[in-house]
Amino acid sequence: MFAFDNSYIRLPQRFYRPAEPAVARAPRLIRFNRDLAEELNLDFTEASDEDLAAIFSGNSLPEGAASIAMAYAGHQFGNFVPQLGDGRAILIGEVVDARARRRDIQLKGAGVTAFSRNGDGCAALGPVLREYLVSEAMHALGIPTTRALAAVLTGETVYRETKLPGAVLTRVAASHIRIGTFQFFAARGDTEAVKTLADHVIARHYPELEGADQPYLALLNAVSVRQADLVARWLTVGFIHGVMNTDNMAVSGETIDFGPCAFLDEYDPRKVFSSIDQRGRYAYANQPGIAQWNLARLAETLLPLLGDNEDRNVEAANAALVDFGRVFQGRWLDLFRDKLGIAGAQEGDLDLVNSLLKLMEDGEADFTRAFRALCKVAGGAPAEALAAEFNDPIGLDDWLRRWNLRHEGDPRTAGQRRTAMEAVNPAIIPRNHRIEEAIAAGISGDFAPFERLAEALADPYRENAAFAELTLAPEREQRVTRTFC
Ligand code: AMP
Ligand code: MG
Ligand code: MG
Repeated sequence: MFAFDNSYIRLPQRFYRPAEPAVARAPRLIRFNRDLAEELNLDFTEASDEDLAAIFSGNSLPEGAASIAMAYAGHQFGNFVPQLGDGRAILIGEVVDARARRRDIQLKGAGVTAFSRNGDGCAALGPVLREYLVSEAMHALGIPTTRALAAVLTGETVYRETKLPGAVLTRVAASHIRIGTFQFFAARGDTEAVKTLADHVIARHYPELEGADQPYLALLNAVSVRQADLVARWLTVGFIHGVMNTDNMAVSGETIDFGPCAFLDEYDPRKVFSSIDQRGRYAYANQPGIAQWNLARLAETLLPLLGDNEDRNVEAANAALVDFGRVFQGRWLDLFRDKLGIAGAQEGDLDLVNSLLKLMEDGEADFTRAFRALCKVAGGAPAEALAAEFNDPIGLDDWLRRWNLRHEGDPRTAGQRRTAMEAVNPAIIPRNHRIEEAIAAGISGDFAPFERLAEALADPYRENAAFAELTLAPEREQRVTRTFC
């Protein structure tokens, strides 16, 4: 069971509201993540599926649960909303995991809270399955992310465009503190609360900054570095978050709030899937710029904590934001060097990477499959399989010649290079059409495709013939062009 050690509830009362999960009529377990439970030091070995369904629907709150909804604000598509908060999520508490890390346990879709506004506090099955699959896939890919501990059907009907089965996702996060949490207090002129929150975040996520000369400036810098790393990693796997509002950006540096998120099939930097992102604000290649914009909003909340010299504070905060750009560029190039299997750093590397991406864009090459094919070419395979990913592989031979020249002086054998590349270029990602397929089957009561996809995504860097069809790009009629939250 849970050995809760709740810290957020000890913060001032204006940080949250008490919240109680609604009673689910007929809870039924879809999936319980036993590996994660073990990592969290939770002992559910004796629990039946019925017990698990009762707990992770919110019907039977474990002893010592905090049960609160967190307050936060946020910029949604650029517009500031002073009060959002957990409208369909309840934090039931925190546990300290096997590696001494504090982790939040949250029920998403367990009913209305003080922050629900006009919402029903519920989650439909589709988004629960999507978040389960994608968050666990991101983890398996090695990308910082919240995790999925359980998915449960509530037995209730949720009303969206149509009637849908209701479900609850149990989410695990380093914390659920967002840039929007800082904004909630800053918007109210509550500098004391901003300071309390910043101190909590430093102690919890950046303990190395405790006692720093300028801890709040250091915090801004540290959050920026983690975001730069995170977004760079997203881009290496073709991930598009879809709703990078400031309330969906965790200060811990984990990916959070998987709504209408999606993965690139063919490479297109302007790609947008989300049905609610009509102007493409959160397009694939816009993500670093948006992260920086969001960090500027965080910086604004911290300015009053930086000291009395306002001009100097603004200058220091601006320097941190400029730094974000530098750190991002560096991380991105390093990660793409690894994807290309090129060792060390050389003058022309940025151009080499960008030239390949341009060829992929022009040739509408599948992002994941093309990089995976490149690994085989590195290992000595003929270039045909790679060329086959391009509508028109014109220019590819020239590029491969440049790439081969770039390997001069690299002491690794072709086989070693291929192995290194395959460790960073996934064979499988959660493709949009496969997720939609798993959701559609789940809605009709068949969770086998969901289970199969979850299993395949758990080991993404290994080619597994049993899951070959899941690594294919969508056929024309399978293509997903829009995603919904
Ligand atoms: P999101 O776009 O999912 O990040 O959510 C934005 C805001 O809307 C947050 O404050 C959520 O808690 C709230 N929200 C989203 N869906 C619901 C719902 N079904 N019921 C209540 N609040 C919701
Ligand atoms: Mg959100
Ligand atoms: Mg193609």
